[in-house]
Amino acid sequence: MLSFDITSKKNSTKVRAGILRTSCGEIQTPELAIVATDAQLRSLPNDVLKELPSRYFIVNTYHTYTKEIIPKIETAGGIHSYMQIPGRIIATDSGGFQVFSLGFGRKHNIGKLVQENIVNFNKSSMSSLGLTRRSTLKHFVMDSRSGSGMTRFKFDDSDNPIKITEKGVEFELDGKPNVLNPEISMDLQHTIGADIMMAFDECTSPLNSYEYTKKSMERTHRWLDRSIEAHQSFEEKQALFGIVQGGEYQDLREESARIVGSKEVPGFGIGGSFGDFHEALSTTVSWVTAILPPEKPRHLLGIGKIRDIFSAVQEGVDLFDCVIPTREARHRMLYTKKGRLYLRKLKHLDEPIEKNCACRACVEGVTMSQLWRWFLAHDLRASTYTTLHNIQFYADLMREIRESIENNTFSQRREYYYRYY
Ligand SMILES: [Zn+2]
Repeated sequence: MLSFDITSKKNSTKVRAGILRTSCGEIQTPELAIVATDAQLRSLPNDVLKELPSRYFIVNTYHTYTKEIIPKIETAGGIHSYMQIPGRIIATDSGGFQVFSLGFGRKHNIGKLVQENIVNFNKSSMSSLGLTRRSTLKHFVMDSRSGSGMTRFKFDDSDNPIKITEKGVEFELDGKPNVLNPEISMDLQHTIGADIMMAFDECTSPLNSYEYTKKSMERTHRWLDRSIEAHQSFEEKQALFGIVQGGEYQDLREESARIVGSKEVPGFGIGGSFGDFHEALSTTVSWVTAILPPEKPRHLLGIGKIRDIFSAVQEGVDLFDCVIPTREARHRMLYTKKGRLYLRKLKHLDEPIEKNCACRACVEGVTMSQLWRWFLAHDLRASTYTTLHNIQFYADLMREIRESIENNTFSQRREYYYRYY
């Protein structure tokens, strides 16, 4: 059973802080979940997880399924025992986002926000679109910023290498046909046994047309009814969140928020694509949170850039998850109160990453030159320590955000971090 209490809220804004409780534990919100892709973190042994300052984790159903980890979780007696983190709150996603990644995401190398991925377009995806890098940049920027009337690239369903039908999603796994649908997703998530589960949805691409996004959203709503139906006998044990879709289109987002918001579920995910720019994310989220029932928690799926966190909290989002803290640590990128540091540029410094940081790396005084030497020697301690540091940074950031909401200093905190991020 999940309960959610809003402990601090100013009438003039949507910003709020709260406490979310399940039978396993509680978290204060806003909070960011650390992504344990296949029920573990790549650079950390599971017995280190309980030392982390994080109270909230999210596990990818698709990866635990395809890597055959679910039977091991079942043998261990559920995800809390398997990950050895009693008292923490764990969520699972539906597998829907991976459906998206297998389709458009992998084929075109794009993600949730078009802008940040334009620079990542690789040669083959560019040529498959018949574009040069320059023409794509111009295309998207001109279209969305100046209203020049240039046609923006949109894709239709025929271009998708996976097959999405009313029944569910067909895809290939190790050369064999496989299916994921609401009932199978619920079944897998029940076996994993997390506190919070996500309804099975299709996460549309920023490059999908309006027509496709609408069709997909309506199907996601029907899939939500099937997810709720398949979850009935587990309602007391696990909380099922409905997911709002609708891409970057205001009327679709509002329709989705109304329909999903009217369902008897204890919380909501906000998924899908959010348009081209940071500002678009904030606007899209604001359409949705204006409609969703205010007394229930909202989890913005897969978003965790610092600017995006502040603007989503501003619009009343309570929960986040993102791979940034852990993935960037493995890529030698360190988060600090004075901005991001790329270890390569600081490799000669015989100083710890950050003063007053409670992570093991900073407390033990591991220097940046030492970390760099470990990275060069492929010593696993390098990514373990950088991961521990970035996780501590995000835990501290979220605590600061919560405290600033309680103290009425949220805008000052935001201004501070916007100077560096
Ligand atoms: Zn640290």
